[in-house]
Amino acid sequence: MPTVLADTHAHLADPALLPQVSEIVVSAESEGVDHILAVAVDLASSAESVRLAERFPTVWAAVGVHPHEATSFNAEVLDQLRELANHPKVVAIGEIGLDYYRNLAPATVQQVVFADQLALAASLGMPVVVHNREATADVLRFIGHVDRPADLVSRAGVLHCFSEGYEVAQEAIRLGFYISFAGNLTYRRADALRSVAAALPIERLLIETDSPHLAPMPRRGQVNYPSNVYLVARQLADVRGISYEMAANETSANARRLFRWT
Ligand SMILES: [Zn+2]
Repeated sequence: MPTVLADTHAHLADPALLPQVSEIVVSAESEGVDHILAVAVDLASSAESVRLAERFPTVWAAVGVHPHEATSFNAEVLDQLRELANHPKVVAIGEIGLDYYRNLAPATVQQVVFADQLALAASLGMPVVVHNREATADVLRFIGHVDRPADLVSRAGVLHCFSEGYEVAQEAIRLGFYISFAGNLTYRRADALRSVAAALPIERLLIETDSPHLAPMPRRGQVNYPSNVYLVARQLADVRGISYEMAANETSANARRLFRWT
């Protein structure tokens, strides 16, 4: 079996990536990345992500409004997201969630927008891509209070760029979530996070780049690209004492299960 990689979180519609998106996708493919989830932050990047998914066979899309952009959300945006989500290459609602660290939108607004999009995903039978920063208790409470169809019980979504402890991950897994690790898993001071990644069940783990952010070591501080996801796979393999091929292929298989990728 050839080694394949899935980058489950890349902001391909970001202005830092969009002008070179063809080269970026081709170079990822040459590293074995055969699936990229283009994740949106607002209505415009949702529409752009869907266009990219139409253009590139290895790209799929998540549509949604990020907590930083929560004040841009309204009933009309919700309708348009529902419309975009009809596209066969849209496989998730995201990125949605809560961010009490940067607080770019009031917490109360973020919560309404998060709840509305969790309900949208459940009504569409789609998993969610969740952002959490310093909002763990509320994120767990919100994702735990969604009435999901039976089909979503074991594939409710993913906590992206995971940076919390083992118990939080276990609780999210119990709620049907996958745990996704990004480039911060490779950072020098990330020993606690690496031990979390070593201890969790491998069948619930994903890897991602969060491009253009969070470039893994040794490229920390540079613009990040989906082609770098192999560095996260290598780190995951190291901490678990498994082969690189196994880390890459297992996380790819998990992503295929979550997003119903073919
Ligand atoms: Zn993101």
